[in-house]
Amino acid sequence: MTVSAASPTIKSRVLIAGATGFIGQFVAEASLDSDRPTYVLVRPGVATCPSKTGVLKSLRDKGAIVLQGLISDRKNMEKILKVHQIDVVISAVGGGNVLDQLALVEAIKAVGTIKRFLPSEFGHDVVRADPVEPGLQMYREKREIRRLVEEYGIPYTYICCNSIASWPYYDNKHPAHALPPLEHFKIYGDGTVKAYFVAGSDIGKFTMKTVDDVRTINKSVHFRPSNNFYNMNELASLWEKKIGRTLPRVTVTEHDLLAIAAENMIPESVVASFTHDIFIKGCQFNFSINGLDDVEVGALYPDEPFRTLDECFDDFALKLKDSKKDAGSNGNATPNHVIESLAISEPR
Ligand code: NDP
Repeated sequence: MTVSAASPTIKSRVLIAGATGFIGQFVAEASLDSDRPTYVLVRPGVATCPSKTGVLKSLRDKGAIVLQGLISDRKNMEKILKVHQIDVVISAVGGGNVLDQLALVEAIKAVGTIKRFLPSEFGHDVVRADPVEPGLQMYREKREIRRLVEEYGIPYTYICCNSIASWPYYDNKHPAHALPPLEHFKIYGDGTVKAYFVAGSDIGKFTMKTVDDVRTINKSVHFRPSNNFYNMNELASLWEKKIGRTLPRVTVTEHDLLAIAAENMIPESVVASFTHDIFIKGCQFNFSINGLDDVEVGALYPDEPFRTLDECFDDFALKLKDSKKDAGSNGNATPNHVIESLAISEPR
């Protein structure tokens, strides 16, 4: 079903916290691409951190205004929101800092002029999904932020974008940084449970489309691109086509995933608990989104295409080719930055 047209576009002034992070970078780039005045909040000291200077320079070069501060500093956040006349606040702080948003929510309430707040969600619908611990603790914290936002009557949008388009390693919280497997696939359960995969650039693009859209006020926006709905077996076949060879499959059982989750290593056990929820329990599709509080992004923007998983895997294949070229020129193979640590069950 196509939902009726959006309101005329207004170029809101946007503040993004966590713009140097994995998801935040996609959102900040999309905000700049949409020509909105874009302020990025960075923690004091980040400007001199070698791993972040490149990201910050690239955002600055595209027009971002960099501000220093912590979202947990309520007074300073109030000042920033007022002085820069911010309309939209987007938080993309990481899973370990979810509760830092409590002070940010207090600041937004005190200022009273914020037209939209997008808290750090960018995954599953945390009210419906029910992962085992330690993933559940992160969801409890995200639920706590939702509860406060709703209690204060702050206009919000919750982005439920599902999985990032990449091989879903059970021990890597940013799998899009890693190539899909080159030696063997680890398949969760029987490999038939499906999930939605969304390119990082599309997470950014569609997030920014929602921020001034009246149809997304006080809604959860679900990303369910039907052409990117794959199970593990299909994902493995797609990658095999790209690399032109087949790889052995190793089964990671439900029990294996639960055992890793129970080890309570952060962040690996958190990722294992989400992997269990997605690929064993089917948490991305086992509920209907026809309720009044939900809207599907494809229904909002039917003419706006998603990058396909096929295209995203082409990018990985290109990276692989480039890394082989580099290896040829300096004699070293480029490592795949994934811990291939836990050989679980025997290859099939
Ligand atoms: P990252 O850890 O990569 O980045 C977090 C960012 O937040 C960093 O820029 C960090 O700054 C900043 N930050 C943290 N605390 C504060 C604070 N108190 N004040 C200001 N800035 C702060 O986060 P992720 O991208 O991994 O996670 C963002 C969200 O996306 C989370 O809700 C997570 O659950 C979700 N996610 C979804 C994925 C998916 O596949 N759908 C994958 C990964 C995450 P600094 O640079 O100083 O550390």
